[in-house]
Amino acid sequence: MNRIKVLPVSLVNKIAAGEVIERPASCIKELIENSLDAESSDIKITIREGGKKLIRVVDNGRGILPDDLPLVFKSHTTSKLSDENDLYNIKTLGFRGEALASIASVAQVRLISKTADQSDGYEIRIRDAKLYPPEPTAATQGTTVEIEKLFYNTPARRKFLKSDNVELSHISDIISRFAIAYPEISFSLSNIPARSDEANKIILIDLPAEPKESGVLERLSFFYGNEITEELLFAEEEWDRIKISAYLSLPTYTKPISKYQFHYLNRRFIRDKTLSRAVYQAYHNLIPQGRYPFVLLFLTMPSDYFDVNVHPTKIEVRFRDTWKLHDSIVSFIRKQLAEKISLSASIDAPGEPYQGKERVMQAIVDFFATSSQRDVSNQKPTIRAVSPQGEPVDSFRPVPSGQVSPQTPQNEIRPHLDQARVFQIHNAYIIQETQDGILIIDQHALHERILYNQFSRQVSNQGVHKQRLLIPRVVDIPKSKISLLQEVIPHFNKVGIEIEEFGGNTIAIQSIPSVLNNVDLSEFV
Ligand code: ADP
Ligand code: MG
Repeated sequence: MNRIKVLPVSLVNKIAAGEVIERPASCIKELIENSLDAESSDIKITIREGGKKLIRVVDNGRGILPDDLPLVFKSHTTSKLSDENDLYNIKTLGFRGEALASIASVAQVRLISKTADQSDGYEIRIRDAKLYPPEPTAATQGTTVEIEKLFYNTPARRKFLKSDNVELSHISDIISRFAIAYPEISFSLSNIPARSDEANKIILIDLPAEPKESGVLERLSFFYGNEITEELLFAEEEWDRIKISAYLSLPTYTKPISKYQFHYLNRRFIRDKTLSRAVYQAYHNLIPQGRYPFVLLFLTMPSDYFDVNVHPTKIEVRFRDTWKLHDSIVSFIRKQLAEKISLSASIDAPGEPYQGKERVMQAIVDFFATSSQRDVSNQKPTIRAVSPQGEPVDSFRPVPSGQVSPQTPQNEIRPHLDQARVFQIHNAYIIQETQDGILIIDQHALHERILYNQFSRQVSNQGVHKQRLLIPRVVDIPKSKISLLQEVIPHFNKVGIEIEEFGGNTIAIQSIPSVLNNVDLSEFV
């Protein structure tokens, strides 16, 4: 029978590293947190081979005292907590005292640090998990951590790493999270190309310090493109010692995936189901199904309102009053959106209250009035179209069977049209009476679906009909995404989109699949 034994420290650290250090980007996350906790104002990151060969983070923060240096790579060593009370009053990004120990157990690490009071800096290094004593070295104030050969001694982990470019994109994502929350800090990321040296490193991200309040938009435009900043509304509110600052996309601006939702608690990037649910609920009947808003929420609250000690990478927290927070956020977002699109103001107040069927009609029109703005962009919803008696007039008109407007993909819906009453609203939605309810068809979505089916058939039959553009379409992409381009170009080629780099942050689209004829190419790419 196997006996119970105490694990050696090196193995304990490797197990801890398994939770915290998944890839180069996780090292960078921990190092940036340490630099921010040390009150740095400038953080410079250098990598080689997607961070697998080398990660170096240089900061200008407070530094570490020479006597403390031998402790930094030991587990459960931290300057950020002293007693249990501190654990419920965490003001720093780090507090577990595990990051450097974890990293040192799976990589070769060197750390150089100098405080303001010392004349010399000191260097301490870990080679093959062996700690060497500190040695004096020339240094400026701050701390440099250099991580080489990540996972050199854990081949199973190394196998999970992806291509250099994919790792780079994870790194860029991590940096973007911090850069957006800390606009007053300058950040840079440089890449040393393979088979090249330090002198030839390429600067991929170079973000100067911005004013703390107004700099968020600068940072958003760097990572997500200029156009996003024009689509966001900013709002703030405070209640019960909770403050929320938010950048919210209008319902007219949506994304096809949900990843553009960023939640911060006391400037810590977190993932939280309650916050996601609140955002979903606030937007859900304002935007079409399958589309997502761009939302950035900064929550600030006293540390006894939540617990951050629930997840090794501190990406999850537990709120004290989850549902109250949820409801407050839903009503905050809805209020902001309603004010902006003057939802209620635009409804022609009828002399008498609606009743019965009329009320239902009005609810349907309200619903479409907000979501149809996306589809019929320059056509403001004409709510007045329904009379107080519920009589459809003008833009809310019954369509005789089989005679939907030319834009409607008739073939697909004709089978239903023969039997029932059909309405078309704002040339965007078709409502059909069915035996026991109504059927609502989003014309736009239906059309997309038909195109998608055509397109997938072509891709799987190896023959995408390509159309060469007479004049290549030039598109700007967010500067932060340029490094990913090499990775995605072959995939685009496969589906008939030929792209060439054009210099700077510009690309030229040379050909497109013919089914994408009417698509907004810059949005699509
Ligand atoms: P934690 O951040 O949870 O305390 P770490 O293992 O990340 O644990 O770091 C251990 C300690 O090393 C920190 O508490 C801090 O005192 C010191 N330290 C690490 N990085 C830096 C840095 N860049 N500048 C100043 N001190 C640092
Ligand atoms: Mg830390």
